[in-house]
Amino acid sequence: MSTSGRRVVVVGGGVIGLASAYALNRGGWDVTIVERDVIGAGASHGNCGYICPSHVLPLAEPGVLGKTIKALFAKNSPFSIKPRLDPALWSWLLNFARRCNERDMLAAAPGIQSLLNSSFAEYEAMLQRESLDCEWEHVGLLYVYKSQALLDGFTETDALLSRSFQMPAERLDAQALADLEPALQDGLAGAWYYRCDAHLRPDRLLSSLRRLLESRGVTIREGCDVTGFVRGGKQAQAVATSTGEIPADAFVVATGALTPFLAKHLGCRIPIQPGKGYSLTMAKPVTCPKIPMIFPETKVAITPFQSGYRIGSTMEFAGYDTSIKQPRLQILLEGAKAYLRDPYREPFEETWYGWRPMTYDSLPIIDRSPTMDNVLIAAGHNMIGLSMAAGTGRLVAELVSGQAPHIDPTPYRVGRF
Ligand SMILES: Cc1cc2nc3c(=O)[nH]c(=O)nc-3n(C[C@H](O)[C@H](O)[C@H](O)COP(=O)(O)OP(=O)(O)OC[C@H]3O[C@@H](n4cnc5c(N)ncnc54)[C@H](O)[C@@H]3O)c2cc1C
Repeated sequence: MSTSGRRVVVVGGGVIGLASAYALNRGGWDVTIVERDVIGAGASHGNCGYICPSHVLPLAEPGVLGKTIKALFAKNSPFSIKPRLDPALWSWLLNFARRCNERDMLAAAPGIQSLLNSSFAEYEAMLQRESLDCEWEHVGLLYVYKSQALLDGFTETDALLSRSFQMPAERLDAQALADLEPALQDGLAGAWYYRCDAHLRPDRLLSSLRRLLESRGVTIREGCDVTGFVRGGKQAQAVATSTGEIPADAFVVATGALTPFLAKHLGCRIPIQPGKGYSLTMAKPVTCPKIPMIFPETKVAITPFQSGYRIGSTMEFAGYDTSIKQPRLQILLEGAKAYLRDPYREPFEETWYGWRPMTYDSLPIIDRSPTMDNVLIAAGHNMIGLSMAAGTGRLVAELVSGQAPHIDPTPYRVGRF
């Protein structure tokens, strides 16, 4: 299909919407991005910035259910569910629980991996082609442990990832870890090191991408809430918005955790729950780590950027809750304090929360609406939407343009729900 001059509306100005807009614009489409708030208002702004091909396994793994139930009853757990009568939440949790087994874990992983790998290559290509000021660094990711037993326990996961997904980690004992990262405290057991992972500063990526897109003629309409579609048979002719209709030849719905609000217009089930997480951004501590780290025992992650430092964590199923709760922020600080000599630096420049768009199988939805042939959904990227964005953008552009997709889109079909 010739795409030259054909109009596409991308709904949602997060990283998935911007990466899709970029790929569509390169493919010759006349692109308009429609955002209800401002670009980067959602989960894509203050996340930890990991571009992590190592995150191959879904959240639903064998053993996760028991740990989750235990965490629910623990004081100050980073994981929490706000109990309420919400059938969509309970159906989501039930489906998640059913998938906590080896068969379903192994079934989901290839779809996650192909998008992660494609995305990593697309990021590298994009950074070569464009000058994007996003503080990209390819120094890997450390999983740091205090407990020898838990460090040893990861050996099995490492063996599985090496054997089935060609994703081995390097094991570092206490001394090797101390040599690599003097910012860590003494007395830790060691770490697993994924050298393949990279990181960037997500807010900088979004603002650079925005400038690039505008310089390439992409129109951005902020403060414009999409409320539905104007249909003509099996096609959408326009999006209906808070500021009037916007006609186009094709539409991409990249509305992250808010996508369920458009489900009835899209004609399908969108079982996405908002998984709320927090981050604190600040100037670098005096003794700052060089390499991003996850502390699996406290479930806290830290990222040293060139221009600052971020601590992120927590997964709350609390609906579309907009509050910032001090005790939850304390979990971030305590979780970093347990490992780092100089865990944070006050004052904090930004205290932030975001809703991760969580599906129960950890796979995104990248597929056409069953009721409108020219509407593509690209949402539900869970905890790794930044890592999957560049590959998603390419896949979206291929599917919208009727080209052969570069990766198999079957795992992302909406009909699986
Ligand atoms: C604490 C935390 C740490 C994380 N760390 C990482 C990480 O290190 N690496 C990683 O890969 N991922 C990470 N993530 C996950 C990642 O942030 C998300 O997967 C990703 O940002 C999702 O992008 P998105 O574009 O789909 O959604 P969003 O960024 O939420 O964008 C959706 C946009 O759509 C707009 N919108 C919604 N509805 C409408 C409508 N009706 N009309 C118009 N506009 C609309 C919203 O305002 C929003 O701007 C983290 C998330 C959190 C919370």
